[in-house]
Amino acid sequence: MNIQSAKFLMSNSRVEACPAPTLPEYAFIGRSNVGKSSLINMLTNHKGLAKTSSLPGKTQLINHFIINDTWYLVDLPGYGYARVSKDSREKWGRMINFYLRRRENLMCVFVLIDSRHSAQAVDLEFIEQLGTQGIPFVLAFTKADKQSGSRTHQNVTDYMQKLAESWDELPRHFITSAEEKTGREEILEFIGEVNRQ
Ligand code: GDP
Repeated sequence: MNIQSAKFLMSNSRVEACPAPTLPEYAFIGRSNVGKSSLINMLTNHKGLAKTSSLPGKTQLINHFIINDTWYLVDLPGYGYARVSKDSREKWGRMINFYLRRRENLMCVFVLIDSRHSAQAVDLEFIEQLGTQGIPFVLAFTKADKQSGSRTHQNVTDYMQKLAESWDELPRHFITSAEEKTGREEILEFIGEVNRQ
C-alpha cells in the first residue's frame, strides 16, 4: 500500500466522541517509550504526525489519524510507565477497555514490544486481555536496529515461545525499526489485505 495522505483528525478521552465508525480502524499500543510514535511516523512517512512524547505516560488520549481517506490509524495512550499514579492507571484501563470492546470498526490492534527485552508481565497481561476477549491483534517488535539481527531473531523466538505456553494459536508478528524502515512494507501490506476482506 502506498501512503498518499495521512492527517491528524482528533484526540479524545471518550470513546463516544471518536469519529463515526464508518472506516476500518487499526490501533497502536504499547509500553511508554516502546517506539510507538516513531513507528507511526515511519509507517505514514510523516515525521511529526504522532508526537514523540517528552513526558511519557502523560497524555491519555485516543488519537485518530485518517490515512488515504480510507482507514483510521489510532494512537492509543501507552501503559507501564512507573511514575503514573494508581488513579491514572485505572482511568487508562477503563478507557482502553471501553475502546477495545466498543469500537466496532476496530480491525486489529498492533501491540508494540521492544525487541531488546524479554517478555514483560505488563505486556503479557495486555496480550492475555486481548486474547480472552477475542480482539484481533498482532505484535510489532520495535527498535530492531538497536542490536544484531540474530539477537533480535533470538528475542522474538523466545517471546513467541513464551506466548505458546499459554496460547494454541500465536498472533502474527512483525519486526520493525523506525530508523531503518524495517517492517514498513509488511505492515502496510497486511493492513491493505485486511481492508480488502
Ligand atoms: P513512544 O513513547 O512509544 O511513542 O516512543 P517514541 O517513538 O517517542 O520513541 C522512544 C525513543 O526511542 C525515542 O528516543 C526514539 O528516537 C527511540 N526509537 C523509537 N523507535 C526506534 C527505532 O526503531 N530505532 C532506534 N534506534 N530508536 C528508536
